[in-house]
Amino acid sequence: MSNWSFQLSKSIRNLKDLPKNYLLKKSELDFFKDKNKYNSFPFCVTPYYFSLADPSDSNDPIRKQFLPDKREFIIKNYEAADPLSEKKHEASPRLIHQYKNRVLLRVTDICAVYCRHCYRRYMHSDKNHSITEAEADMAVRYIKNNSNIAEVLLSGGDPLVLGDKKIINLVRRIRSIRKDLLIRLCSRAPVVIPQRITFSLIGKLKEYKPLWFVTQFNHPTEISRLSAKAVSIIVNSGIPVLNQTVLLKGINDNISTLSGLFSRLTRLQVKPYYLFQGDLAMGTSHFRVPLEAGLALYRELCRTISTVALPVYSLDLPDGGGKIQLSESFIKGKEGGWFLIKDLDGKLFRYPAE
Ligand SMILES: *Cc1c(COP(=O)(O)O)cnc(C)c1O
Ligand code: SF4
Repeated sequence: MSNWSFQLSKSIRNLKDLPKNYLLKKSELDFFKDKNKYNSFPFCVTPYYFSLADPSDSNDPIRKQFLPDKREFIIKNYEAADPLSEKKHEASPRLIHQYKNRVLLRVTDICAVYCRHCYRRYMHSDKNHSITEAEADMAVRYIKNNSNIAEVLLSGGDPLVLGDKKIINLVRRIRSIRKDLLIRLCSRAPVVIPQRITFSLIGKLKEYKPLWFVTQFNHPTEISRLSAKAVSIIVNSGIPVLNQTVLLKGINDNISTLSGLFSRLTRLQVKPYYLFQGDLAMGTSHFRVPLEAGLALYRELCRTISTVALPVYSLDLPDGGGKIQLSESFIKGKEGGWFLIKDLDGKLFRYPAE
């Protein structure tokens, strides 16, 4: 068994899979008591990612990303199952065409670790958990017939939970559409299951350039010996690596954590490209940093780190408004408990201030 399939087969999915003496807070325990009542987002963590957390610290930044909490059952009236209205932009099953020149293919619904802050937490396909041949055919046909499309993002779930053959087959089919299509592979594998980044997989992937890799490091503790090695395998193969970080309350919402994270990533030759303000996904309010605090943090970051290390602070606007850079110039004011944000076309969107 390969190291990565071992990680998947030994995943922790239930209370009983946790070590016997593992101490849970009441709000964590309450999640497990009530999870069936609420049709909750599944719990699953690899032994590797679990091992990064200090079991004696209930505030550990890794623990909070993988361990559920009953606060996930709190649903604000402005939160949604599909906060970015991706369904509205679905061009064919699993293919989201929101921006004119790029499409996003949701290759699978499955992840190695379910991040509690995930905005696709309730986006599951009705039938299959991963893309079928028929769905891949439809996506390929759509991209072929649409010459505006210059870039294809492979996302999920996490595409790298699939086996090498399936991944390479899909990448080969996309490459055969046009040789200058940019392929962007989005995966949290380097962070949560670095064993998945093998010389063999990356050796095959690099045949399909131009290809970029996008991952999600949210905290410096996630940069372990193994995750640094995984990143170096990708970078050394000539595939550039970008990182998107989600701004998370109580996890990374302070200047020393963020500046440390971004500086260390650049030393690994990973370019921090997005810092995301929390999306309005159902049951994630305990992770959201108030926008005002986020803007203040970002101002401080701009003063602290080099531009190579500085990501773009961004928000994926509610109701499918798309991504927008969060800078004071887009914020048109405050009304009641809401910020008014104007997009590039002058359209107004509302985002809660709390
Ligand atoms: C984020 C996203 C993209 C890529 O946008 P970039 O700003 O180029 O990173 C493409 N399609 C969808 C649906 C997205 O959410
Ligand atoms: S790996 Fe990505 S898609 Fe999967 S749970 Fe984490 S954030 Fe969501």
